[in-house]
Formats: sequence, structure tokens, C-alpha cells
Amino acid sequence: MSNFWTPEQDKKIAECLADGMSASQIAAVFGCSRNAIVGRVHRNRELREIGFARSTGSRKAVTVKDVSISTRPRKIRGGTPNTTRMKRVKPAPVIVPEVVELVEPSGSGLPLHELSSRSCRWCINDPAPGEGGHLFCAEVTEIGRPYCAYHYRKSIGKGTYAERSADDVLLKVAA
Ligand SMILES: [Zn+2]
Repeated sequence: MSNFWTPEQDKKIAECLADGMSASQIAAVFGCSRNAIVGRVHRNRELREIGFARSTGSRKAVTVKDVSISTRPRKIRGGTPNTTRMKRVKPAPVIVPEVVELVEPSGSGLPLHELSSRSCRWCINDPAPGEGGHLFCAEVTEIGRPYCAYHYRKSIGKGTYAERSADDVLLKVAA
């Protein structure tokens, strides 16, 4: 067999390749050896790009076949772990806020004119109307707050209803 391939022969090989013929089948068409066809396809860029559909030289076709067989079960298997993963989502940790026990300031209180700019302005007594003599907590406040930590918490309504009403009862008893 001559190594000389005409453009017509190359075209014929290209058609055979496009039809999915093997090197042996094409070799039978040309009446040459299978190796001659493989060699020609290997050396000619256009033919090489078409490639053999079924032979050791056609990795493309083999790969596609393998993928088509192997991906189907993978897709089915892939669906199950996905739902499993969704079920396994961990619940967000419950953050329990730290409860700070605030002690009521034990100071005897100061009249308004003795308060500094950072004195708690929570009135701690309940003088009769017209009597005057209001006394204020006077504990050091946080910057930007009119009350100390204890009275600030009272001012924003923390604590249960019973806790707040208990304070009111105590104030009335004290007064
Ligand atoms: Zn206070």
C-alpha cells in the first residue's frame, strides 16, 4: 500500500469516520491494512479531529459512552444525599442571654441640686404633694443615660410584672 493519499481518499476516509466506521471497516473499503488507516487518520489533522467512533484510537467516543452509562446512576444516587443533607442541617444554637442580677443602689439619695451631670436621676422617695424634698438615686450613670444600671433597667421595663409591682408595694410601705 502506498503512503500516498489523494484528497479524494482523505475525503472518503472522513466520510467513513463520520459514519462511525472503525479503522478495520475503513481498511476493508480501501483494501489496505487497518494500520494504514490508523496512520493516515493520525497524520491528517482534519481526519484526526473526526476520529474513530469505535476503536482504541477513539478515546472521545469511548469517553462519551462511559459517561452516558455512569452518570445516570450517579444522578439518582446524587438526589438521595441531597435530601439527607438537608435533613442533617444542624439547628441554630440557642443563645441564652446572660441575666445580670442588678442590685438596687443602697444610697440614701440626694436632693436634685446636689446631683452631678452623671448622677442617677431616679426618684427614690415619694413625698406628699406640695411637701417637696424629692430624693434621687445619685448613683453614677452610664454615659448618655439619665439613670444608673439598676434604674435604667427599671426604666425600660425589664423584669416581670410581679417584680415591678413588688417594688411599687415596697415603696408605698416605706413611704
Ligand atoms: Zn439609680
